[in-house]
Amino acid sequence: MQNQSMPDIIRLLPDSVANQIAAGEVVQRPASAVKELLENAIDAGATEIKLIVKDAGKTLIQVVDNGCGMSERDARMCFERHATSKIQTANDLLSIRTLGFRGEALASIASVAQVELRTKKVEDEIGTQLNIEGSEVRSHGPVSTPDGTSILVKNLFFNVPARRNFLKSNISEFRYILDEFYRVALVHPDISFIMYNQDKILFQLPPCTLKQRVVNLFGNNYNQRLIPVEQQTELVNISGFIGKPEFAKKTRGEQYFYTNGRYIRNASLHHAVATAFRELIPKDSFPAYIIYLELDPAGIDINIHPSKTEVNFLDFSDIYAILQAAVKQALGKHNLTPVLDFEQESSLDIPPLQPGQFILPPQITVNPDYNPFEKKTEPQPGFRFPVSESRKDPAYRRFPDPTVPRPGNPLASGPLSDHIDTLENQEGKGLGLESDQEYFSIFQVANTYIVSESGKGLMIIDQQAAHERILYENLLETKKSETQGSKTIIPVTLSFSSDDALLLREHLADFVMLGFELSEFGNNSFILHAIPSNLPASDLNGAVEKALDLMKDDVPLNAESAAVLIAKSVSKSLSVKRGKKLRKEEMESIYQKLFACKVPEISPEGKPTLIILGFEELAKKFKV
Ligand code: ADP
Ligand code: MG
Repeated sequence: MQNQSMPDIIRLLPDSVANQIAAGEVVQRPASAVKELLENAIDAGATEIKLIVKDAGKTLIQVVDNGCGMSERDARMCFERHATSKIQTANDLLSIRTLGFRGEALASIASVAQVELRTKKVEDEIGTQLNIEGSEVRSHGPVSTPDGTSILVKNLFFNVPARRNFLKSNISEFRYILDEFYRVALVHPDISFIMYNQDKILFQLPPCTLKQRVVNLFGNNYNQRLIPVEQQTELVNISGFIGKPEFAKKTRGEQYFYTNGRYIRNASLHHAVATAFRELIPKDSFPAYIIYLELDPAGIDINIHPSKTEVNFLDFSDIYAILQAAVKQALGKHNLTPVLDFEQESSLDIPPLQPGQFILPPQITVNPDYNPFEKKTEPQPGFRFPVSESRKDPAYRRFPDPTVPRPGNPLASGPLSDHIDTLENQEGKGLGLESDQEYFSIFQVANTYIVSESGKGLMIIDQQAAHERILYENLLETKKSETQGSKTIIPVTLSFSSDDALLLREHLADFVMLGFELSEFGNNSFILHAIPSNLPASDLNGAVEKALDLMKDDVPLNAESAAVLIAKSVSKSLSVKRGKKLRKEEMESIYQKLFACKVPEISPEGKPTLIILGFEELAKKFKV
């Protein structure tokens, strides 16, 4: 009796369910399907690969290649679980040269999407098409199709709502796809890639050298940002590029490791590179690198995780040491021999260092001749410099008020008083301060602090923090004013990595709102026609890039917060730096403009811009 009511309960899962479970690991998001399809195309020996994406891959991903194609039988087999042409025995795992070998990807993808395959071998007259949906073959037959393979994946996760709901926004998912595309494109410069997004060409990458591929993907700027790395040993051959320390970014940007053509993640290898850069870049920045390791496949284990981006090395400590030495050597060479074969726009290069100087700490690259206070355009009559409330605060009241220009006073003429509005002028006259020009005393210490006197005591201004505040309020003021304030006309071309260009396109309106007249020029470059006046026109490319970096964190931004973020970042990039010697007019200008700000006391980042040593405190110190 009991036996009858307790039947055996263990069953083999149907294939479709087993595949779906495997898909959980192999296909986590549209980008994983993109990766697997691109890898298959490369394994098939393609020289031209086309990637087509719609709605961040959620509705459509298609990869078309001109590789070896599949026979009719293979076209059916390839969707079976553990069906692969790449290995036959476990021993083959020791000599893997292909990207795939687990035979899981297509089976997994076909279990969670609607897939259309068209494929033909060169030697065959006619090709094969096959439609499969949730692991079930819907149609199958001969078709006339070009040599190679096209796999179209529609409505990923159509039968797994939980997965679908777990996907992030299209912007985020698309970024994951781009990441995968970059990873593949960067290691196969010999293959031509075309990528379409929403029916528009996003990338067209011709076959070229490695260096050219890097530049095509990351932007022309990279021409002068890269240092080659090269090291051949018995154990491993290392090649690739590292970014010059001066261009290290605040966000983990371009960091790529490859072993035998496979993109891998490896925290320990990263450590080897990062320590070679130590002392050369600020603690909170990340070096760029694209490093290729070639070694005997028997020396690495790639069969750790279904995504195949994690590997174990047999001789890890040796590889670590060789890599670190190679990077150090490349950095050393770079500093000793400033002229590399990359100089296309050598004018942007860092000044050569003296022989004998070895690795030096990074320098802030400020154009020494650049004067942020220089008058660039005629002031426009309609523009009014914002008048601050705090200026009336007695703590800042000096005698005389520096913001009130007087005839004969150096403040009353020249660039400094350009933007002080005329009403103020008249008030000043009314106060009868015309003859007080000798009174104003201001000087700089340590090339960093501006020292003067306030109504309450000795005032010390941090020149950089103060200038950041001034630029920041100026930018946000431009945003508010309908006329958008006055503009400095400076048509310059800015070029970006495709990644940054994409982001800039997204945030173009935010930049425009802040007074940047920007328009797209194609090929990941933009023309900056004008910037808000008062904004120094120094490294604008770099400033925009840094601002974009901040947008990369996955925090949702509304127009307001994006603009504030941009304003903060840009004002920081373009501000006069600590350590810069200032002329008297420059100090006076900062002083004046600071107290025209709404919140003069703190920098946009929340640091103090000034301190006041009160007279009482002074008196106490002197025990008066
Ligand atoms: P794996 O790549 O691990 O072998 P996949 O599921 O990705 O497993 O692919 C299964 C098989 O289908 C491959 O081994 C290969 O023989 C065949 N295949 C897949 N994509 C292509 C392609 N683009 N061109 C030719 N053959 C392909
Ligand atoms: Mg594969």
